[in-house]
Amino acid sequence: MSHYMFRCPVSGENVQRWIDDDPDGARNSYVIVDCLACGKLHFVNRSTHKLLGHENE
Ligand SMILES: [Zn+2]
Repeated sequence: MSHYMFRCPVSGENVQRWIDDDPDGARNSYVIVDCLACGKLHFVNRSTHKLLGHENE
């Protein structure tokens, strides 16, 4: 398990989550996380912890 943080695009809050380590997973695969800030689901890049569609932010 790894600790990571992402910025919720809905509420603008920083959300801390734990992510399962998956050394055998694809480098650029996304994981679905339930957001504690807005209650919706977000796709977070497993490697960069960037949200899908917000990779350049
Ligand atoms: Zn959110």
